[in-house]
Amino acid sequence: MRTRARRRGADWIIDGSKLWITNGAIADVAVVWALADEGVGAFLVEKGTRGFTARVIENKLSLRASSTAELVLDAVTIPDSARLPEARGLKAALRCLDDARFGIAWGALGAARACIDTVLKYTESRELFGRSLNKTQLIQARLANAVRALANGQLLAWRLAKLKDEGRVESAQVSLAKWSNVRMALDIARDCRDMLGAAGITLDLSPMRHMLNLETVVTYEGTESIHELIVGRAITGQGAF
Ligand SMILES: Cc1cc2nc3c(=O)[nH]c(=O)nc-3n(C[C@H](O)[C@H](O)[C@H](O)COP(=O)(O)OP(=O)(O)OC[C@H]3O[C@@H](n4cnc5c(N)ncnc54)[C@H](O)[C@@H]3O)c2cc1C
Repeated sequence: MRTRARRRGADWIIDGSKLWITNGAIADVAVVWALADEGVGAFLVEKGTRGFTARVIENKLSLRASSTAELVLDAVTIPDSARLPEARGLKAALRCLDDARFGIAWGALGAARACIDTVLKYTESRELFGRSLNKTQLIQARLANAVRALANGQLLAWRLAKLKDEGRVESAQVSLAKWSNVRMALDIARDCRDMLGAAGITLDLSPMRHMLNLETVVTYEGTESIHELIVGRAITGQGAF
């Protein structure tokens, strides 16, 4: 962590930057994690604070409806009361990831289902050589495989939720579900895009939009490689980061 927080009297001075921050240019307050002498801490920085700037990242091909920003903190001065008292150490920063990743494991199911629904409607109405596209064996096999993968993902998310309800869920299980369900949804979106033929590349049908958005989802909240390493550590007992 390169963003630093230094004490000066009763205040904190924060220097550094944060890249790829969702809603960073819209929010009135940013929660900034920074390394202080006593370890990692979290600080509330209000929009308009001197030395604090947010630059919108343009030209994204993915999650275009979501605003993403780079935050720069240049000798930002905030009072000690702006420090979150319980958020001490990297563990505190990482704790919120499990909840976000849990939500993503469910959200990916919705994207996959929307893609399958779109293809079902399209292939029913698309006639080729005197029959609906959905009467062909290969389209049915591809749709059946998509539904099989979706059903596995639904069961995985449901089981994760049960474990969470019982207070027994582990981070590695959340990693496995996030990684597996987003990969499943991305594969389904790509195949569904293809089953729509040329119409699949327009904004009129949703699979390619889901596909592009899922490229971000596969990266944020931990890339696939990072989740592989987390799951690998859980099953071997060896950290290989
Ligand atoms: C649209 C969008 C919104 C975002 N919103 C937020 C936000 O609100 N808040 C926030 O904090 N972040 C946010 N992020 C950032 C996101 O979490 C990071 O982009 C993501 O964690 C990957 O980090 P990175 O981009 O630095 O890639 P890098 O860490 O540079 O990784 C590059 C590649 O190297 C691989 N890699 C990295 N380390 C290892 C290793 N040890 N072994 C093997 N391979 C490795 C990765 O898997 C990846 O393939 C957002 C990103 C996007 C795209």
